[in-house]
Amino acid sequence: MSTALLRELEQRARGAGFDLFGLVDAERFDAGQPHELRCARELPGCGTVIVLGCGGPSQAQWNLPRELADLLRKHGHPARLAEPMQSRLRFSALGEAAGLGTVSPVIHRLLHPQFGPRVMVGAAVLVAGRPFGPIADASIAERFQPCCHCARPCLSACPGGVHDGHGDVDEDRCSQERERGPCADACRVVRSCPVGAGQALPAEVEAERHRFESHRALAMRGRGLLPTIRRWLGI
Ligand code: SF4
Ligand code: SF4
Repeated sequence: MSTALLRELEQRARGAGFDLFGLVDAERFDAGQPHELRCARELPGCGTVIVLGCGGPSQAQWNLPRELADLLRKHGHPARLAEPMQSRLRFSALGEAAGLGTVSPVIHRLLHPQFGPRVMVGAAVLVAGRPFGPIADASIAERFQPCCHCARPCLSACPGGVHDGHGDVDEDRCSQERERGPCADACRVVRSCPVGAGQALPAEVEAERHRFESHRALAMRGRGLLPTIRRWLGI
């Protein structure tokens, strides 16, 4: 079991601005995903997923996830980088499985206990097998459910009303609103959420995460969980 290697990976990730780091058992994760959104589809034999995210005011060094995959391969562990713009994996669900928060059933974003929806799950490194040993279930979703007792200011904060309140998002309308200007640099929904409200980010970091999230959402259009289910059901 490569404990020293795991320590090195985590230290390098944190040093490069990815202050959220977690492991996911890929088989357990895949068991709850449609076939086409599974880790094993992107890397056959995948047993471990390293999830990399940003919560605090750090700006990520984007070459880091690729370096981690290279390092793993150098140590003889087949590994592949999965990035939200290209991969079909559900990154918010991976973040939840890694214990980085709970996916909101209202706005379908990951809510971190400290940072709220200001978090960004930036990349995942898929690794064959379990070189770091068995991976415990780290999810906090059963005990951290902030949306259940919330007046939902997020829904009225959105100028485009793009959230239906049940996790579905009209990405086209969201994109139009951003272009129109009212939320070009920051998402009003994110700002309105009381979870992590004391953790306001510096403007440039907030704008970077907003851009990232916008690009991710557009890249995922028609490829996420709901479109997949709709395609299955023919609706
Ligand atoms: S504002 Fe309330 S309902 Fe909306 S995401 Fe935040 S906690 Fe959930
Ligand atoms: S970016 Fe604007 S339109 Fe899109 S969800 Fe946020 S507030 Fe609503």
